Parts: sequence; structure tokens; C-alpha cells
Amino acid sequence: MYLKSIEVHGFKAFANKIVFDFHNGITGIVGPNGSGKSNVADAVRWVLGEQSAKQLRGASMQDVIFAGTENRKPLSYAYVAITLDNSDHKLPVDYEEVTIARRVYRSGESEYLMNGSPCRLKDVNELFYDTGIGKEGYSIIGQGQIDRILSGKPEERRELFDEAAGIVKYKRRKVTAQKKLEHERENLVRVNDILSELE
Ligand code: ATP
Repeated sequence: MYLKSIEVHGFKAFANKIVFDFHNGITGIVGPNGSGKSNVADAVRWVLGEQSAKQLRGASMQDVIFAGTENRKPLSYAYVAITLDNSDHKLPVDYEEVTIARRVYRSGESEYLMNGSPCRLKDVNELFYDTGIGKEGYSIIGQGQIDRILSGKPEERRELFDEAAGIVKYKRRKVTAQKKLEHERENLVRVNDILSELE
């Protein structure tokens, strides 16, 4: 699996629709200060479901929408789509290629799309469990993040190892199963109460 392309339109400084095509291997993005290099990483983080404006270096979520320049009017929405090559089926879907897209309007309306079909953020998160990809994954290491990992709490470091070891999805499933079990136990208590009232 590898990142094949990133399409951005109206996201931060990218007013025009731009498609970055990548090939298997290493790609470097170079440019002068303020030219938008970090905005490319922000776009990937955002499409993967980042909900914190601070993580995207903005004050509010609407700050990801192109704000306009002297010569150009602001845009009304931001759109980012990433396409991943899935020919090795590391992502648990049948498709050879997976495109995840996110769009947000100034009105606050927003949507996620998976291969063109609307989906929930939960679906995006679940698709990337244990792959290292995702807003919490280690596939994007931002400035200062190595320091934060090294000086962080052991539990936080453990989360990183869990993700790399591929056990996050089992832990999440365990929590869901435990909640269901608890719910069923409560139902059983209620049924027993009714039964003893009837007896
Ligand atoms: P450095 O090398 O200094 O880290 P960089 O190449 O990573 O810089 P970025 O920080 O990605 O650059 O880009 C910053 C640019 O993006 C600034 O010029 C800023 O004005 C522009 N920008 C950010 N958000 C928006 C927005 N919503 N609308 C228009 N331009 C924006």
C-alpha cells in the first residue's frame, strides 16, 4: 500500500484544484518558507479525520478553507482526496485503489466519501486501524512530535506500539463487546426482577 495521489481544492493556500501524483518510493517536497509544504501534510491529516483546528495550525475548522488573497476571492469550501494503492490488500476492502475524500463548507456542513460514496468518520477510522495511517497514526510525524513521543507518558507510547503491532482493532472490538455484555447483564437483571414480581 502506498499513497498514489493527493487532490486539493480550496484547502488552505491551494485555491486551484491541484493533484500531487506520487510513486512507490521516496518523494521530497521542497520550497521556500511559507510556500505550503506543511499544508500538504495538513491536507492528509485533515482528510483522515483530524478534528482539532490547533493540530492543523488554525484557530477554527473554517480556517482550512482558502481565505482569499489581494487578487482572489475566498472560496466557499475546502476539498481534499487521497488515493492509496491497495493492490496488496493491506486495507481490508476488495478495491485495488481506495480514495478517501473530505469536504467542508463555510456553513459548517461537511462530508466524507470513500471511493465516491458518502461514509462516516467512523468508517474512515476503522479502515485504517493498525496500519499506522490515520490522524493518530505514526505515518505523519509532525515537527516536534518525536520529542513529544520520547517525553510522553508510557501509556501514550504504548498506543504507538499497539498500532504498529496491529492490535488496536482487537482492543476497540473488546471495548465494544464489553459494553454490549454490560447492557445484556442489565437486561437480565430487569427480566429477573419482572419474573420475581410475577411469581
Ligand atoms: P515553512 O518552510 O516556513 O514551514 P511551509 O512551506 O511549510 O513553510 P506552510 O506553513 O505550509 O508553508 O504554508 C503557509 C502558507 O499557507 C502561508 O502563506 C499562509 O498564508 C497560507 N495559508 C494557510 N491557511 C490559508 C488559508 N485558509 N487561505 C489562504 N492561505 C492560507
